[in-house]
Amino acid sequence: MASPTFANLPTTIFTVMSALAVKHGAINLGQGFPDEDGPIAIREAAARALREESNQYPPMRGRPDLRRALARHAERFYGLAYDPETDVVVTSGATEALTAAILAFAQPGREIVVIDPAYDSYRPIAEAAGAKVRTIGLTGPQWRLTEQALQAAVTPATAAIVLNSPMNPLGRVFDADELAAVVRVLSSSNAVVICDEVYEHVVFDGGTHVPLATLPDMHDRTVRIGSAGKMFSLTGWKVGWAMGPAALVETIAKAHQFLTFTTPPALQQAVAYALDQEIDFTLRLTGTLERRRDLLAGRLARLGFRPLPSQGTYFLAADICGLTAESDREFCLRLVRDAGVALIPLSVFMRAAKPDNLVRFAFCKRREILEEALNRLERFFS
Ligand code: PMP
Ligand code: GLN
Repeated sequence: MASPTFANLPTTIFTVMSALAVKHGAINLGQGFPDEDGPIAIREAAARALREESNQYPPMRGRPDLRRALARHAERFYGLAYDPETDVVVTSGATEALTAAILAFAQPGREIVVIDPAYDSYRPIAEAAGAKVRTIGLTGPQWRLTEQALQAAVTPATAAIVLNSPMNPLGRVFDADELAAVVRVLSSSNAVVICDEVYEHVVFDGGTHVPLATLPDMHDRTVRIGSAGKMFSLTGWKVGWAMGPAALVETIAKAHQFLTFTTPPALQQAVAYALDQEIDFTLRLTGTLERRRDLLAGRLARLGFRPLPSQGTYFLAADICGLTAESDREFCLRLVRDAGVALIPLSVFMRAAKPDNLVRFAFCKRREILEEALNRLERFFS
């Protein structure tokens, strides 16, 4: 008999909506991928490595040059010290790093805390490993993480909390008070924190990303997860990583060795180059994305959507109550078919309270594409 976790799981909404976008010739503001590839120099570095260097298994924990570049990046941006030998493992995308990290801590009798709305990969992996998932359901209009909610969710059985900031799908960046609440609640627990920081460089309005690992007593219980796909607009490459104290990373590496074992060496080498030489691309992209967000939010508001503030990520969530009585899913299915714009319904990211009046727009697209999508929506709603 198939595992109920996976047998009963629908295909991810990203795949569903992208397929519908192709079918209906719609502009895809659903799945979060940039429509322009990252710097050619990074791709040239990969091509050169493919031609001229070994294409056999690289080291299980990742190429040493990439692990060193990742440690330098953490030091440069956050003053965080990681030993590339023991504290870093390279994975096939952040998805694999998250899976390995969750598998490293989830087990029957233990609990994994997930904050809803949550990226859709966390929960099934924890459940498949036999852990109980406890959900903290954030609620509008503020969508804040409170000490009270954390306290209610964290129990003596908590093995790990998954914390995603900047947060997909809401575009929220947890602020100093919310992070301080996490620190306080964890002070009386042994839980580790799996920080999904794939959007670490996508924080808007002059803000900066504050890794939980930089806060008092957090370094030794925090695993940071990142993605080169997000940093360098190369989402198809699937180069990710987990970094943290040696003891935690050791266990994560044990899971990684039986998930993929390694990640293509040429891509790793190119990402090492990118982290050292091309990070300006990443930093500039944030400004570009901020302008796209403003364009989108402004015109959506005029159309009758109520955009939520997007403080980071590729995403903006918007309330559709003023436009329709349909559920978010029905609305998205109608829009992709009849308006030619694909979005993501937010209810798929929630397990506890399930408001169905929110949709997610990805704005990591060329300006003219966003404008065309907005023109289509304008025609549709007029
Ligand atoms: N976490 C979040 C919050 C994401 O949005 C994504 C999707 N890109 C991932 C993890 C997975 O990243 P990757 O493509 O590197 O596997
Ligand atoms: N992270 C991307 C998003 O949220 C999608 C990744 C995927 O399709 N698995 O849109």
